[in-house]
Amino acid sequence: MTDSPMAFVATNDLVAHTRGRALPLAELSATSGVGWVPADLAIDAFGHLYEPNPFGALGDLRLIPDLETRAPLPWPEGTCDVFLADQTLPDGTPWECCPRSNLKTALRRLLDDHGLTIMAAFEHEFALLGPDEEPVGPGAFTLGALVGGEPFGAAARRAMEAAGIRWENWLPEYGPGQFEVTVAPEDGLRAADVAVLTRDIIRTTATMHGQRATFAPLLHPDAVGNGVHVHLSLWRDGQPVTFDAGGLAGLSSLARSASAGILDHAAAMLMFTAPSHVSALRLTPHRWSAAGSFVGLHNREALIRVSPVPPGADPSRAYNLEFRAADSTANPYLVLAVIIHAMCDGLDRQLSLDSVLATHIDDAEITPLPVDLAGAVAAFEKDEVAQSWFAPDLVETVLAVRRGEWQTVGDLDLVERCRAYAQRY
Ligand code: GLU
Ligand code: MG
Repeated sequence: MTDSPMAFVATNDLVAHTRGRALPLAELSATSGVGWVPADLAIDAFGHLYEPNPFGALGDLRLIPDLETRAPLPWPEGTCDVFLADQTLPDGTPWECCPRSNLKTALRRLLDDHGLTIMAAFEHEFALLGPDEEPVGPGAFTLGALVGGEPFGAAARRAMEAAGIRWENWLPEYGPGQFEVTVAPEDGLRAADVAVLTRDIIRTTATMHGQRATFAPLLHPDAVGNGVHVHLSLWRDGQPVTFDAGGLAGLSSLARSASAGILDHAAAMLMFTAPSHVSALRLTPHRWSAAGSFVGLHNREALIRVSPVPPGADPSRAYNLEFRAADSTANPYLVLAVIIHAMCDGLDRQLSLDSVLATHIDDAEITPLPVDLAGAVAAFEKDEVAQSWFAPDLVETVLAVRRGEWQTVGDLDLVERCRAYAQRY
């Protein structure tokens, strides 16, 4: 028996699960990749390949690894290096349903139509559970909670560094067993790659320590949520263009139009950013998630938060928009793609941002977000602009997967439903 190094060539699917195939590392090719099957995109969060889907038993794809994404997993024997991949047709051309390729398309649109690029960072919250499935550590930002997460935490941070992930903060969060990890901003594609790898590295490390890390949005309907907050800044010709000292809330006219585009499509976007059948429960008032569709100054209940600039920082470089209505049941490539398309629409139409909320939500009228996934789907089905952002087969598969998932969780009460998702994320 050998324990020769292995490469796992992977894609992140519509339910944000990383799936792929392993081969000896020495055989890895960035030209031919490994074989793949279109219908794999139609697997739901519970492992059911949902039918009917647009692909059925037909067709072949290749997973073409991006060698720069190499992430060595904390494996007990030998090594397993994960490589994130694009899904292509057998002749190597991009597949229109590949989430990673869709992000590339959105980034291209932003550059070609507006001369803009983005820097982004996904901030993740998760809960660490012991072998008894109980949260590890008391939470509430304590040193004790930080200690309770070791030595898993040290191993996870080491593995992130080995994957080239520049983590910035590792914090015991408010909820029991809850942690948050923040990372440095990267260019758009790399930011989404880092999000995928961060989740998988943390989950794998926890498993290797006899624990479990879950990124599910809610472990219980009344629990503190695990959010994903996406920080974004706009750049043109290598210069930051998000900040304008004289603009509303310090936002440049580009950032204001981009934000207005996000607000305009917010309800439809949730089908991609908060897509499980428990995600909407987290997006309710007084959870510090995103209580409605508004831009807020320093407000943790905003859909888009404008954060304060740290002392000594150059605001033109530090300024960013924080999109808070995402969670880890969402594919990071599609999260970023849908945000960019919405921003492009705001820029195309030169939308103006009329207000930025600077008070508590209780003191203002805010536009609520859909109360469940069905509401987000209905909003998407009414939003022809949002529908144009993705290939019909991709949209059909997203809908099929979520309908399929409903067959598994629709009869469960909310406590059981949260528990079911917590097992899968
Ligand atoms: N846990 C909150 C959420 O579900 C975020 C809290 C915070 O870090 O602001 O999004
Ligand atoms: Mg947090």
